[in-house]
Amino acid sequence: LRCHDTMGIPICGACHRPIEERVITALGKQWHVEHFVCAVCEKPFLGNKHYEKAGLAYCELHFNQRYGNMCFRCS
Ligand SMILES: [Zn+2]
Ligand SMILES: [Zn+2]
Ligand SMILES: [Zn+2]
Repeated sequence: LRCHDTMGIPICGACHRPIEERVITALGKQWHVEHFVCAVCEKPFLGNKHYEKAGLAYCELHFNQRYGNMCFRCS
């Protein structure tokens, strides 16, 4: 059914447009691969590992900067 097809298309949490290619599911939303970015540096993860905290996503560097409890030497 057409209506079900429309409902099944994921909508990007950043640009609010339908996602027709690869979908990233994170933070309870869905995102274009290139629109799911670090909350600090705004670099897309492009499928790389990310860290979620308090409803935001961070790259490893910025997650550690904000929330990490290990210094570079100890980790
Ligand atoms: Zn998008
Ligand atoms: Zn970052
Ligand atoms: Zn240390």
